[in-house]
Amino acid sequence: MLDAVVVGAGLSGLVTARQLQAAGRTVQVLEAAPTAGGRMRRRQLTPGLAVDLGGQWGGDTHSRLLALVDELGLERFASHYDGEGLFRWQNEARRARLGADFDATLLFFDPDDLPLSADERREAAAVEEQFRRLVASIDPEEPWRSPDAAALDTITADAWLQGLGASAAARLPLQWLGRVGGSGGFELHQVSMLHLAWTQAASPQREVPEAWLLRGGAGQVAERLAADLGAAVHCGCPAVAIHQDSDGAAVMTADGDRHRCQAVVVALPPSQRQRLQFDPPLPADQAALQQRWPMGAMVKVLAVYPRAFWRDDGRNGLALGERAWLELTADTSPPEAEPGVLAGFIAADRALAFGTMAPAAQRACLLAELESLWGPEAGQPIDLIWHDWGAEPWTGGAFTAFPVPGTWTTFGDAWRRPHGRVVWAGTEMARRWPGYFEGAIRAGEAAAAAVIARQERSMRR
Ligand SMILES: Cc1cc2nc3c(=O)[nH]c(=O)nc-3n(C[C@H](O)[C@H](O)[C@H](O)COP(=O)(O)OP(=O)(O)OC[C@H]3O[C@@H](n4cnc5c(N)ncnc54)[C@H](O)[C@@H]3O)c2cc1C
Repeated sequence: MLDAVVVGAGLSGLVTARQLQAAGRTVQVLEAAPTAGGRMRRRQLTPGLAVDLGGQWGGDTHSRLLALVDELGLERFASHYDGEGLFRWQNEARRARLGADFDATLLFFDPDDLPLSADERREAAAVEEQFRRLVASIDPEEPWRSPDAAALDTITADAWLQGLGASAAARLPLQWLGRVGGSGGFELHQVSMLHLAWTQAASPQREVPEAWLLRGGAGQVAERLAADLGAAVHCGCPAVAIHQDSDGAAVMTADGDRHRCQAVVVALPPSQRQRLQFDPPLPADQAALQQRWPMGAMVKVLAVYPRAFWRDDGRNGLALGERAWLELTADTSPPEAEPGVLAGFIAADRALAFGTMAPAAQRACLLAELESLWGPEAGQPIDLIWHDWGAEPWTGGAFTAFPVPGTWTTFGDAWRRPHGRVVWAGTEMARRWPGYFEGAIRAGEAAAAAVIARQERSMRR
């Protein structure tokens, strides 16, 4: 009998398995997709260039990710933010400087550089300040125990802004955090104010989670972890059922295999857990929680140019503001700036609409928007890639999951509770940096520790 079976070979499941192996435990990892990595996946475009279809940035407070990257000997480099970005507002794209202190900016930009009236800037700053005070009051580990949690969990973030009479400019930063902040992929009318504030309490944008990149792409991390685990990782093996009895557990796969083990770590996005049949079944509150925790909607866009031409006249590739399709563009070129790579995202309801369009129309929309932001050269990429995470059968969306209003305060206690021998991992389970690579690692480490502690307890008995 194995010590553990891990379901899901995303970053979180791979880290869990690695920790268990390092502690001398026997472990097998079952992965539904043809390759490991989940939301951490790269595509090799040419022998010298790989791009990340999933996550790619790390932050300076991502301590576990930093340690892992260093241990694997991968090369980090700072994201390129030197120079001016573009802020698009009322059909005008204006060059603007970035602010040094995120809290004093409007969406990263120095407010004085933006095409807003003094009244609009003052009001946007006041709304931001109110939001910051609220975030400071939220318990990142147990948001449902925060002051006023019940009231905050029943009002949508959109209604909260309406209640303040917020102008379009004042709404923009919060809308951006919902749609494309790292916990994003949702519109503000789809979540409670408690949830939006919690995303910033647990995974703060002010700590700049997009500070650095990896030469060769972040996807290498998952590739390396999977290669190190070798024959313990089984790709193309969806788990379909988990049975438990007094002697142990068994994980059944779609092709009829049965893996006996002492413990199971389920390292899947919450909505994907609904595809597993549990015997004994999940308690009603955990089953209900999973139904109320859908994935965000996200399309990642990568436009590749011979060189980062926008840098020639001091522009840094960062575009934000009112959107046609893209919520942002950012320079993700290698340090040599050859080739030049702009990454972008289509998020939330726009992503769902984009997903219904024919590929030729999608391409035309992207080219027109890139050109409108960065000039005619931007309309002539040597490669243009877009990846719709909503169409990924084993992920179902991105960046992460969001609970519908009322979920935190009704089902919070069910969030991390194990189900007998089943322990939960995945970035959505993290106490710090949920939604990010960092959260995936922390949740994986916590799950491995829980399995080991459980085993040691039962050996002492
Ligand atoms: C476009 C995009 C951009 C992002 N940008 C960043 C970024 O810049 N920085 C950052 O830190 N984070 C970013 N993220 C988030 C980050 O990628 C995720 O938080 C992290 O990779 C999640 O890892 P995970 O292991 O928790 O989940 P996943 O990667 O989703 O892994 C779950 C695995 O389970 C598998 N699976 C599903 N069902 C079954 C089943 N029944 N049986 C077996 N296997 C199953 C899936 O195929 C998948 O491999 C981004 C994500 C996306 C998609």
